Parts: sequence; C-alpha cells; structure tokens
Amino acid sequence: MARRKTVFVDSDILVIGGGMAGCGATYESRYWGRDLKIVCVEKANIERSGAVAQGLYAINCYMGMQWDENQPEDHVRYARNDLMGLVREDLGYDIARHVDATVHKFEEWGLPIMRDPKTGRYQREGKWQIMIHGESYKPIVAEAARKAATEVYNRIMVTHLLTDKTKANRVAGAVGFNVRTGDFYVFRAKAVIVAAGGASHIFKPRSVGEGMGRTWYAPWSSASAYALPIQVGAKMTQMENRIVLTRFKDGYGPVGAYFLHLKTYTQNAYGEDYEAKWRDSIEAMVGDYVNHQPVPTCLRNHAFLEEMKAGGGPIRMVTKEAFQDPHKETIGWENFLGMTIGQAIVWASQNIDPKHINPELTTSEPYVMGSHATCSGAWASGPEDYAPSEYQWGYNRMMTVEGLFGAGDTIGGTAHKFSSGSFTEGRIAAKAAVNYINDLKGDGPQVSEAECEDLKKLVFQPLDTYTVGHAEIVAGTVSPNFILPIHGLQRLEKIMDEYVGGISTGYTTNEPLLTRGMELLGMLKEDMAHIGAEDLHQLQRAWELHHRLLASECVAQHTMFREETRWPGYYYRADHPKLDDDNWHCFTLSQYDRESGKWAMEKAPVYHIVD
Ligand SMILES: Cc1cc2nc3c(=O)[nH]c(=O)nc-3n(C[C@H](O)[C@H](O)[C@H](O)COP(=O)(O)OP(=O)(O)OC[C@H]3O[C@@H](n4cnc5c(N)ncnc54)[C@H](O)[C@@H]3O)c2cc1C
Repeated sequence: MARRKTVFVDSDILVIGGGMAGCGATYESRYWGRDLKIVCVEKANIERSGAVAQGLYAINCYMGMQWDENQPEDHVRYARNDLMGLVREDLGYDIARHVDATVHKFEEWGLPIMRDPKTGRYQREGKWQIMIHGESYKPIVAEAARKAATEVYNRIMVTHLLTDKTKANRVAGAVGFNVRTGDFYVFRAKAVIVAAGGASHIFKPRSVGEGMGRTWYAPWSSASAYALPIQVGAKMTQMENRIVLTRFKDGYGPVGAYFLHLKTYTQNAYGEDYEAKWRDSIEAMVGDYVNHQPVPTCLRNHAFLEEMKAGGGPIRMVTKEAFQDPHKETIGWENFLGMTIGQAIVWASQNIDPKHINPELTTSEPYVMGSHATCSGAWASGPEDYAPSEYQWGYNRMMTVEGLFGAGDTIGGTAHKFSSGSFTEGRIAAKAAVNYINDLKGDGPQVSEAECEDLKKLVFQPLDTYTVGHAEIVAGTVSPNFILPIHGLQRLEKIMDEYVGGISTGYTTNEPLLTRGMELLGMLKEDMAHIGAEDLHQLQRAWELHHRLLASECVAQHTMFREETRWPGYYYRADHPKLDDDNWHCFTLSQYDRESGKWAMEKAPVYHIVD
C-alpha cells in the first residue's frame, strides 16, 4: 500500500464524469470562471465516453424557438404528461429555455445537423427530435470541454466524495484511482459537479449467456452518479421511477426514428393493433392519463406487456411497408450504424431483412437514470427566478450538500432532457457553481489527511484481499476467502430482478418481496467487505459494484415507500395496483446515513407552475 503513489490535484471546480453533462459543465465553468482552475475527471476517456460514446442519430430535446416550433412551457407539459404528472417543472423549464442555444453551439463546433430541404430548418424526426449525422457527436463535444478545462484526467474512477473537515454537509473534493497505473488521486475542490451518468446492470438483463453484458443503457453506466452523493447524505428523489424501454429484440436497437420518421407501427402476432384493446383496463388503473396525447411511455409498455401475457406475442414493428421506399430503407439502416451497430449485426445474424420481415420488439430490463422518459436522481435546488421557495436553498442544481452540484442523469425530477438537455444542465450547474465559489470569497473547504489515508486503504483493499486469498482458489474462480466482482454483480442483478420488479416477475413486486429483497441486499453488502480484485480492471469492477449496490438499495427503499402503481409498464406494486393521486401526487425523497446505514424517507410537494 505504501508503494502506491498519491497524487494531489487542487481545483476550484471538479467535474466528475466527462459525458454529455460533464462536458457541458466543463465548458461553461470556463465561460464564467475565466481564472478558475477547472478539472474534469473521467473513468474512461472523454473522447468516447458515456452513453453517447457510439454516436447518436437524433438530438431528442430541441425546442426550435427560432422558428416558433415549440416553447419551453410546451416541453414541460410534455414531460409532465409522460411522467404521469410528476416532474420538477422549474428544472425542466430551465433546461428547455436554454437547450436551443446548446444545440446551436454543437452545430458551430462541427456537428452535422440535417436540414429540411424545403424549409431550411433542422430536419425534425418528431416534435422534439432533430436528426443529425452523429457518429462523431461525442468527440465534437469533448473537444470543447478539453479546450475549456485546465486539465482533464482520463482513466480515473472516482470512488468517494470528500467532505469538509469541519462541516460534514459540505463537499471538499473526491478520491479515486487511475485504472491503468493504480495511482491514488485526491482531488481537492471548492465545488464539485457530479455528472457520472445513469445505472445499467442493477437488474438482471435480458441478455445473458453469450449475450452477457449487452444492455440498452451503456454497460459502463455504473450508478456512480447516485452512489457518490448518497454516501455523503445528499437527498435523492424518484429513485423508484426506473425505466423500461420497448426496443428491437436482442440488440436493444432504438425505435424512435422508426416510429417518428419512418412512420412504422407495431402489431401483434396476428397483425392486429393491440394498444386500443387495453385502453379501458388501463383507464381503470390510472384514470385519465391514458387519454392524454402522446400516451405516456410507461402505459404503452403496459399495453405491450398485457398483450404478451394474453398470448398475442411476438409483437412486431411493421417495417415491410416503409422499407419499400429506398430513402426510408437507407435511413432505417443508417439509424443503427450511427448509434447502435449491434442491432444491425443481430439482424444480419438472425436473417432479418426488415424489408421482408417485420422485426420483433421486446421490453428491456429496468434502468435507473434521470435524462430519458424517467427522472430518478438527486434532489436539487432550482433556478432563482422560477423555482418555488420550497425548491430553493441556494444555488441552481446544488444538491442538499453544500457545494455539491449535479447535471444530466444525476439530477432527479427532470425527464426528457436527453443528450442536449444533459449538456445544457451541465452548463446551468457550472454557472451556479462559479457563483457559489465567488461568494465563498476564499473560504474554501478543508480536506482531512486522515480521511484520505483511510480511503486509500479502503479503495485498494480488494487487491490485497485477492492477493492473500487466491492461493486457496478451489474450482475455477471460487475461493472461500473472497467473492469476485462478477459474482457480486450477478447476485445483485438476481436480487433486484426477483424482488424489486425485474423481468422475471413481469416487473412486479410488493411489500413482502421488497422486505426480503432488502434483507438479501444487506447480506450482499456484508459480503462486499470480502470482495477480491485480481488487477486494476477488476478493482474498477469492484467499485462499480459498490456504487450499483448502494443505488439499488435506494431504488428498493423508494419502491417500498411509494404505495401505489404510478407507472404501470415500468413496475407494479401488486399490493397497491392503482395510481393514487390523493396520496401520492408527490415526490419521494430519501436520505442515507452512512454511519447507521439507515434510510430516511419523506414526501415533497409537486408544484405545477405551467398551466
Ligand atoms: C442507447 C441510447 C440511445 C440514446 N439515444 C438518444 C438520442 O437519440 N438522442 C438523445 O438526445 N439522447 C439519447 N440518449 C440519451 C443520452 O445519451 C443521455 O441522456 C446523456 O448521455 C446523459 O448524459 P450524462 O452526462 O448524464 O451521462 P453520460 O453521457 O453517460 O456521461 C457519464 C460519464 O461519467 C463517467 N463516469 C461514470 N462513473 C464515473 C466515475 N465513478 N468516475 C469517473 N467517471 C465516471 C462515464 O464514463 C461517462 O463518461 C441515448 C442513450 C442511450 C444509452
């Protein structure tokens, strides 16, 4: 241990995660803080990191205010409807009013945005989506961040946040390790912006066996965005609002361009439109929400699941008609080649030519994230000109821990921000963080050396555990002395799947299942003290598992607390099978106490600011 180098890095603003939100935060920090030291730390390489690594074919959040296409209020109404009434309208409005400017910057920086040849406007895929040639979306955005940062530290996984020596509820930086060299890093900072993406692989994925590792959300989205703030006591919101996606089967290929641009549609195995069939039963569960347009994403999933249960599967996307048009056929394939190449390969390997065969759809395992048709994440202070006083305790996008900000998947209550909205939220958080630092007037936080030393020991412990115990390995990888990260991950996925509403129970859970699930999560937590890592790569896996586990606990706690089925199609509380607006038209909040390991739950009001 003593041989491991410790590198100290001081900064004014530390951005954790260099994905869409992190790049936005880094870029904007420099704009407002010309003389500040701005550091971005990323566990991969920002050039191709995060959920946009492989590229995108559409920017899903663009108002088009320059052409009077939509106004921010329209977007708030849209997101509110999709999330069955529950969004932070102040935060959503704040993103929507700034997101167009972000997209214009992307174009200025070289991102090719398709234009409608007739109108000269951006080519719309849908009401909110514009089409891009986005294979290089991430490198373009990363370049802006690189030029803005004082320093970007790639290949460093952040494991813990640091708090002020004299004030526990104030952030002071973070620690992590370089996944290539094994050096330990202590980042001391006046303000920290967490932008570490969402969470895949907390529920057992549909892709197992030879497909293991394939998920819809990026497999490297390891819940750090939630675990890091949770560990230091930041309040979280809507963590029960996990998302399930209807996607092309086995490759999780996107359907947006197919539905919206190619105008394909779904039907059951017998060629019937099945959605209308389930309308009345859905109305009995959730009331009028099913009559809203567009029909909320979760309810469309629900109709899909009901149809499958009733024996109408497989559900297929009708592509045969659209693909007769060579232009649409090209778009259909390009859509995958620009963002989910794997789906094209799956189709090729399964003899599916969408011109002749209508491909199957399926519903994914659940994910936890804050930027899609879902809004899990940290509870954040809102914009001072728009947020109700109850949502304001200081600076925009600051969590309930002083100096700790967040953006993108990290921040809860704001669905439908997607790539452009996440970058925008990073910019918003950065501007507020600069203001926070300016107001500090030099009164920066103090880091405890003893805390850093303790964390260093803790972070590398799995390597020591492996070194000491590996001589006793019995069959293959099994040792009486440790569990490996893959063992822990599979146990976690199984618990979440079977007890907290994964695919094997048809996304269904109840109070007794959750109670048992939490007991089992507690046992896994105990075993995490004995996790072994063979090398630095496995050490990263070990810490990713720690983060996934803590976030999973939080999901289970929230799911238990909300005694209703708010989002059928995402998950079901079988013991409370209906939406209950009288009691649950509210946000759920949790706070973790790391000393006792206990969670405190509460409700927070939902304010409808937009008519
Ligand atoms: C399959 C798919 C399709 C999508 N399609 C679209 C689309 O068509 N249009 C659209 O606009 N949006 C789309 N999105 C959504 C968009 O990608 C996300 O909304 C956006 O990337 C979220 O930004 P973020 O910064 O919060 O997370 P990310 O962009 O994922 O960035 C998180 C970053 O944090 C890093 N990180 C994580 N943990 C740590 C740690 N412990 N230490 C250091 N670094 C860490 C990660 O490596 C990553 O770089 C899609 C997403 C997926 C997965």
